[in-house]
Amino acid sequence: MRAQVFHGPGDLRFEDVPWPTPGPGEIVMRIEAALTCGTDVKVLRRGHPVMIPHVPTVFGHEFAGTVTAVGAGVITVREGDRVVAANSAPCGACPPCLAGRANLCEDLLFVNGAYGEAIALPRRLVSRNVVGLPANVPAERAAFAEPLACALLGIERARVESGQTVVVFGHGPLGCLLAMVAVSRKARAIIVGKAGRRFGRVQGLRICECIDAAASADVVAEIKSRTRGRGADVTVDATGIPEVWEQAVAAAGRGGTVVFFGGCAPGTTVRLDTRQVHYEELTLVGAFHHTPDLIRRAVDLLESETLNPDGLVTHRMELTDVGRALELMSRGEALKVLIEP
Ligand SMILES: [Zn+2]
Ligand SMILES: [Zn+2]
Repeated sequence: MRAQVFHGPGDLRFEDVPWPTPGPGEIVMRIEAALTCGTDVKVLRRGHPVMIPHVPTVFGHEFAGTVTAVGAGVITVREGDRVVAANSAPCGACPPCLAGRANLCEDLLFVNGAYGEAIALPRRLVSRNVVGLPANVPAERAAFAEPLACALLGIERARVESGQTVVVFGHGPLGCLLAMVAVSRKARAIIVGKAGRRFGRVQGLRICECIDAAASADVVAEIKSRTRGRGADVTVDATGIPEVWEQAVAAAGRGGTVVFFGGCAPGTTVRLDTRQVHYEELTLVGAFHHTPDLIRRAVDLLESETLNPDGLVTHRMELTDVGRALELMSRGEALKVLIEP
């Protein structure tokens, strides 16, 4: 089959690789839709010891399609089933897994291979993190299950409730999904972005209010003025920029919660106003990845159409064009590129 194979940082090759066959407990899925992700851009640039422990491997991690073969002993899915698979599976046995925090599993098994015609999924993933698709959820929408599950975790960590104001820093696809989830909970969401083609597109989607950080002399003051001087109930960083983490803290109101959703470069640190964090009782939480339960809830949200992410797809391309798609992503010109093998 044809696939985009990652050989190491900066080295993505379009190659012919053997069509996968399922071992015991495994399944093979024909990929019908794959989505590009900001993480792909980062991983292609500098590699990723956890997500990609060995190379070469077929690249990409957001995908949906149809099961074409099942290995011995698989009873949860059948040939012909339309499914979406998460890009990881927790062990189910370590202390974080037993505590209900499978996203922090000490032995998270990552799977890559969205940018190929087919993928073999390992036993653990098949048993824990492959979800059947309702008829009304097309593959290209189902492929959002993974990033949407991440967004659900971020909003969940802040226990967002109806009527609260949630400020999301970052206008990438995850910033948008975080805002959409907040809106689906009847919160007032505000996206802070930076002027440009992609931000224009986000504003056009009318997800929620938007603030152009480039046009505002003081973003924190702008947020305060839009919240009657109080600051936001919840702020979420979805940029992974340390200075923006600091802004997210500064923009939170008394008793507010700050969610650090965007991962920053290794070794970076931030400064905290100790007075604010203590006397205003801020809750500062990290949010990483997703759990099998959240992947299912993401599929439910897509099925019920409580939330529709279709507008985040700015381009559709073929498997041969993944390199070009990731370039568009890195130049900030695309939100999500749909790859159809
Ligand atoms: Zn992703
Ligand atoms: Zn575990």
